Amino acid sequence: MIIIDGKKIAQEIRAELKTEIDKLISAGKNVPGLVAILVGDNPASESYVRGKAKACEEIGMRAVTERHPSDITEKTLLDLIDSYNNNDKFNGILVQLPLPKHIDEDKVIETISPKKDVDGFHPINVGNLVIGKPAFRSCTPAGIQELIVRSGIETSGAEAVVVGRSNIVGKPIANMLFQKGRGADATVTVVHTRTKNMAEHCKRADILVVAAGVPGLVKPEWIKPGACVIDVGVNRIGEKPSKDDPKKMVPILKGDVDFEAAKEIAGSITPVPGGVGPMTITMLMKNTLKSLKFKLGIQ
Ligand code: NAP
Repeated sequence: MIIIDGKKIAQEIRAELKTEIDKLISAGKNVPGLVAILVGDNPASESYVRGKAKACEEIGMRAVTERHPSDITEKTLLDLIDSYNNNDKFNGILVQLPLPKHIDEDKVIETISPKKDVDGFHPINVGNLVIGKPAFRSCTPAGIQELIVRSGIETSGAEAVVVGRSNIVGKPIANMLFQKGRGADATVTVVHTRTKNMAEHCKRADILVVAAGVPGLVKPEWIKPGACVIDVGVNRIGEKPSKDDPKKMVPILKGDVDFEAAKEIAGSITPVPGGVGPMTITMLMKNTLKSLKFKLGIQ
């Protein structure tokens, strides 16, 4: 049984990205630049954006965070995005979601140039993914696919079951797994709250990707012996004192799968935390480098 170590795989990919960026620097080229636009003061978004900026700087990427108050007008935000669309120093634009209610998220996503849409949420990128054309693939599902590939899991001809059909995880990972090519060619079933006999579908899965946001939803007896289980769920089930500073409380995180019992049955499984989580930011950086390489005409 393999515990798929997302932190280790993410570090490997970050080292590969750093090597590519060092080569660009040696060739006198620009380094990739990512701008993160943060609206309001949601602590989770703040910490996520800080994590992104730090990770980018560690591999030699330029990272800028634009902070704006929650009463920013939609027009000001759209104009700001447009200014970054036309700013050559930035290859990736990320607007941290969720946004305040008075701002239309769809309009925001559609204003980001598809060429700089490193989150892969623009309808043009989503459409290109579906029809199997090159596209920015959204970061969490792209990270899941990378974990599967780098763990040596055979996807071609495999039965894959995806629990959840959200636009950011379920739908894109299902689409990626049934495309032609590396880490794909699977036969995919998507299950959701209206599915009858969810357990029966899960039991068929050689690859089970669970993204429901329900702690412990997938029971050990739903797992096919030897299956690869990717647990995307991140559920806060309480708090505990931090290891570094016992006076500080940190959240207790649990996945959508009962990890301890499932690891006795699965062939490979991602833990929560430390599985899919570290891959998301890594794929964002990979997309930002890809955007610059595309602009420079490098494959
Ligand atoms: P979401 O938008 O709430 O979607 C959840 C999906 O799961 C929906 O399609 C829903 O079905 C389905 N679902 C919920 N309860 C179910 C049940 N009891 N049985 C069957 N299907 C059920 O969530 P999301 O944004 O995809 O995120 C899912 C989880 O992944 C969350 O825990 C989130 O925190 C985590 N996540 C982690 C990362 C990461 O980087 N590690 C990134 C993104 C998300 P319906 O469509 O029928 O309602």
